[in-house]
Amino acid sequence: MSSTTKSQISRMVAKIKQLHNQGIPLNLTAAKRRFPDLVESAYAVTPFLGWRKLLIAAGIDYKDIEREYLNYVVCKICGKDFSILTGHLMGTHSMTPKEYRQKYPDAELMSETLRIAHRGMRQKPINLKITLPHWEELWTLEYLLDRIEDYRERGGPINFYSIHAHDRSTTDAAIRFFGSWDAAITRLGLNPGENRKQASRISLSDKEVINSLKDRQKNGLPLNENAIYTSDLRLYNAARRRFGSYRKALKAASIDPEKVYLINRYSDEELNKVIKAAYKINQLTGEARIKALKNLDKHYWPMVCARYKSWSKFAIKIGLNPDKFSFCEQEEDLIIAIKKLPSNMTAGRLFKENRSLYGKIWYRFGPVSIVLKKYHKINHVLRKRGKKL
Ligand SMILES: [Zn+2]
Repeated sequence: MSSTTKSQISRMVAKIKQLHNQGIPLNLTAAKRRFPDLVESAYAVTPFLGWRKLLIAAGIDYKDIEREYLNYVVCKICGKDFSILTGHLMGTHSMTPKEYRQKYPDAELMSETLRIAHRGMRQKPINLKITLPHWEELWTLEYLLDRIEDYRERGGPINFYSIHAHDRSTTDAAIRFFGSWDAAITRLGLNPGENRKQASRISLSDKEVINSLKDRQKNGLPLNENAIYTSDLRLYNAARRRFGSYRKALKAASIDPEKVYLINRYSDEELNKVIKAAYKINQLTGEARIKALKNLDKHYWPMVCARYKSWSKFAIKIGLNPDKFSFCEQEEDLIIAIKKLPSNMTAGRLFKENRSLYGKIWYRFGPVSIVLKKYHKINHVLRKRGKKL
């Protein structure tokens, strides 16, 4: 280490001690917001330093740091803040979350507090002896590097498979932030080739190959041949060695190779079309909603099925109300229909004039005369209040 680097580090250490003594939050998301330059310089040092080791150098225990998480996320286009952006992006900027992320790769769609609530890292470590507990609540590229560095310092193997076997959240984050495990460890100054060589000495069993493929499927990670080849060469080689071909390994894991192929055949552009249509459906009610959903289903069901399994899972994934993607009539649709009825409508008359609506009301809410009274009363009160104001 050069003397310039040494004096750089001691300046950083002094700065971070000062911040800590002032009670300023030092968790990575807050630090990146408040003093991005200091964070950046901690990751610019070679050999790798990072945030965790800088704190250790300053004698600060991660357990003692102040933490700060925002309960809003700012839209990078208009600067307004929301707890979740998906609806706003579509409504105001006609942009799918995916398009937004392509334009702003580091942007988040949910506030930090929501992200902690949704996919907090409180899952139990698989192997108490070797799986590192989490010291940050949220994933950042920087936190990922600190984690891999910690594993490296402990002297264990730093290849994809050995980490993946007991700490999948870390290998998933590597693929998310760097595209591949190799790219992530290269950023730490490690040579992926050497680490792979170490790994190949332990060969994967048939069962391990099958489980890895199934895990990838469960986590929605790409399963096409090229993706496996670039992100997990060891799995790819083992799959071919054990089963004769990658395709045969997929079949052994009960994954339909045609569907893997099918997913790749649909372009992002097509998926964006479906997402845009889904946002429109989310605004519709009654017959119009069901009609639009049926139409979308006719054209895109194979793709949605291959990627998401069901319309409601798809809706949840893109931040919409799953009820809006059911082919059944919804309660709110029925209430709207009831409110549209003339105010002197009686159960007897409805039975004669619109038996289908009468039946639906009965089935959903019970005795029709009581239901009519209830919703017409609400209507009446609303109208009266509207007049007064
Ligand atoms: Zn905006």
